[in-house]
Amino acid sequence: MRELDERIANCRLCRLCESRTHAVPGSGNVENPQVVFVGEGPGRNEDLQGKPFVGSGGKLLDQLLNNASLERSQVYITNIVKCRPPKNRKPKPDEVETCTSNYLEKQIELLRPKLICTLGATALEYFTGEKKMGDNHGKLFVAKLSGLPLLATYHPASVFRNGSLRALLQDDLKKIPELIRKS
Ligand code: URA
Repeated sequence: MRELDERIANCRLCRLCESRTHAVPGSGNVENPQVVFVGEGPGRNEDLQGKPFVGSGGKLLDQLLNNASLERSQVYITNIVKCRPPKNRKPKPDEVETCTSNYLEKQIELLRPKLICTLGATALEYFTGEKKMGDNHGKLFVAKLSGLPLLATYHPASVFRNGSLRALLQDDLKKIPELIRKS
């Protein structure tokens, strides 16, 4: 895992390396993570610090995880792309393909979590091909390639745009302890 982090930190496989401050491999429990959370890509704070979900979305995620009896130390958190897209634009398909095939899938192979939890539409689409969050949040899927169970939910930042999503995201996260107990 350390070797993979190092490769990510020095990666120059796509254009996102040109504007990054730091690549953000991921953080959390690397020995025995119960769940791997996958967001879209680093934002400004994450790019500056080299750590995932440390901005306002990350603070909210911590709170919601806590309410679901989960802690960051039990889980691993990463993103579809490891470098911040300029102006926080959505990652382009070739960026997603390069970063997931070289890094995310290898991380999942090494971490072997009981469950993958996608945060937002970009991660949902990558793992399942589904595009609509409204129809799919809270549902269980089988992740492509790894075949691991996957729970889809909203991105924490979506709550800042629409406060009513907070309760839905929280309810979805509360399903996790039971899902990992069963597997
Ligand atoms: N949004 C993401 O998708 N990932 C982060 O790490 C931070 C914000």
